[in-house]
Amino acid sequence: MIRYERCPVCSSTEISTEGNITDYSVTGEIFPICKCAACELIFTQTVPDPAYIGRYYASQDYISHSDTHEGFINRMYHRVRKLTLETKRKIITDFVHKQAGTLLDYGCGTGAFLNEMRTYGWTVTGLEPDEGARKKAKQLYNLVITPETDLALQKDKYFDAITLWHVLEHVYDLHETVKHLTRISNPSGKIFIAVPNYKSRDAEIYKEFWAAWDVPRHLYHFSPKSIETLMDAHDFKVVDTLPMWFDSFYVSMLSEKYKKSKYQIPRAILSGLRSNINAFSNKNTCSSQIYVCERKTKLHLS
Ligand SMILES: [Zn+2]
Repeated sequence: MIRYERCPVCSSTEISTEGNITDYSVTGEIFPICKCAACELIFTQTVPDPAYIGRYYASQDYISHSDTHEGFINRMYHRVRKLTLETKRKIITDFVHKQAGTLLDYGCGTGAFLNEMRTYGWTVTGLEPDEGARKKAKQLYNLVITPETDLALQKDKYFDAITLWHVLEHVYDLHETVKHLTRISNPSGKIFIAVPNYKSRDAEIYKEFWAAWDVPRHLYHFSPKSIETLMDAHDFKVVDTLPMWFDSFYVSMLSEKYKKSKYQIPRAILSGLRSNINAFSNKNTCSSQIYVCERKTKLHLS
């Protein structure tokens, strides 16, 4: 079990317990969450060691690695994923200023995004520890995914774009991972980090039922400030923050399910709309956000 004495982002000891969150999707176990007064990070306290986290992912409901089409939420998730793939591709090409470059998708799941980028001429690499997801990637898209997620082993390979779509919140060695991601980023490369945002209106609406707490799988619960603090420690800066409009609906739908409320679908649609309307006028408050990061100091390679 991991018990943090210091903030995993900024090492501050000014941490306090914020509350207790139930693992609604798999085990029903309860985990405390703590907040850092310095960088605003909220993190899950007393998380299982990496060797024991596997069973917390063993659920039909945990769909980011699966391609089942059963149930309304799953169907919606897959429909929206199709739409967002195109949006993500456009974001990458816009920010990297290349129509086709090199891409690393860290924690690529079943490879849908890699497939999208490859279709448009990108040279793609995917890393994914889950064997089932890798098999799916091979079956669905004939993609060969690397199981080894230790980035220290990535040598002499550099990327124009590195993407982490809802992955960083699951990563145990946070600073070590970011250190290597920044190392293997091309001098003018960009890192795109998508994570839930606890400063969103849907987090405020659902409180302890907010599905994006997703303890203990989500080790960290980022705010814009905590992401900036993390990247700053590796000489990277956030150059833009983009909203992920569909996530508010998806998270609201799951949150309603956890609350066991009546009229889950209309309530979720309403909460998603409230969250998005709020985020429309208050930047940095969308349910999930994509942080576009680049080097603070330009490298001059001879
Ligand atoms: Zn901190």
